[in-house]
Amino acid sequence: MVYADNAATTKLDRNAFEAMKPYLLQEYGNPSSPYSFSRSVRKALKDARARIAFCIHALPEEIYFTSGGTESDNWAFKGFMPYKKKNIITSQIEHHAILNACAAIERFGCSVNYLPVDKYGIIQPDVLVNVINDRTELVSVMLANNEIGTIEPVTELAGIAHENGALFHTDAVQAVGHIPIDVNAMGIDMLSASGHKFNAPKGIGFLYIKKGTNISPYADGGAQEFGMRAGTENVALIVAMAHALEANCKNMESAAERLYRMEQIFLCTLTEAGVDYLRNGADKHIPGNISISIKGANGEALLHRLDLKGIYISTGAACDSINTKISHVIKAINVPKEYAKGTIRVSFGVYNEEYDAVVVALAIAGILRNK
Ligand code: PLP
Repeated sequence: MVYADNAATTKLDRNAFEAMKPYLLQEYGNPSSPYSFSRSVRKALKDARARIAFCIHALPEEIYFTSGGTESDNWAFKGFMPYKKKNIITSQIEHHAILNACAAIERFGCSVNYLPVDKYGIIQPDVLVNVINDRTELVSVMLANNEIGTIEPVTELAGIAHENGALFHTDAVQAVGHIPIDVNAMGIDMLSASGHKFNAPKGIGFLYIKKGTNISPYADGGAQEFGMRAGTENVALIVAMAHALEANCKNMESAAERLYRMEQIFLCTLTEAGVDYLRNGADKHIPGNISISIKGANGEALLHRLDLKGIYISTGAACDSINTKISHVIKAINVPKEYAKGTIRVSFGVYNEEYDAVVVALAIAGILRNK
């Protein structure tokens, strides 16, 4: 089989798996308990927080563990009650974790602006300058798009938010562990991350909240997560996440080099096989993320034909997959009609080999020839 859907989820790092095992089987004490049995568990939690913080140039006390990207995004948006008369600005191409959180707060009286993008999926800073106003509490723009991989100019966008007295949040779920991140240099006040996108387990993530940011707790209860997100911490998953993130950050440059090479191999093989496609997204994109729209093809049908061959990719529009609708991202970047329906996303990861790129491209070309 070839798994080429790493933007959806990734395989667990083996060392991360080994690192979490003791906290499931032997060291199962509650990290909040005062006795000596829990001391090592508490230390593991503290270490993991510090190691994760280091990877994005944050302080340990600025990392709040959550259940993943969706929860982190929801917290960043829902921590501003009451919403009445407030304004939040986001983009048209965000993940549904953001778009549906926006829909929820709009029902409570918050106004939300959705910034358009250019044909590469980039939010031009001028567009934000024209929309931001004195009621804007928060600007949230993803660091990298999950469908087309485009990396957004968040440093500029954060600067504009701050000049206008607003906070800046970024959904960095597709970016953490894949591109360098320095929350201070980039001017980020809040950042969402999800472990399973960087070879950690599913169901664990974090929200970075810059020290001094005025945001309400997400869950009320015990004093865990500095009293901001109550509930006994999932120590095993947190330890595994720290391991996986460290490993990804350590090998980031060489992994990116390999992944960009795989992209070239994949695209050249498609071209040589005569496939008529457009590549979506910007030059500056997440390594290994390839969104293409194939003329006259049906992305959904292609996905299922590849599935029969043991090749796993995505249409890049998973949320709309049942209706084979064109995704909000593909619409936002104005992919020509005759190509749009034939959109697929192939996303290679650290466990792929260059050979996989050839196998996937030839399989696609073969299916299109025999349709
Ligand atoms: N944000 C983006 C950009 C994503 O790609 C995803 C997952 O696909 C999420 C948020 C949701 O993350 P999680 O699956 O951890 O809830």
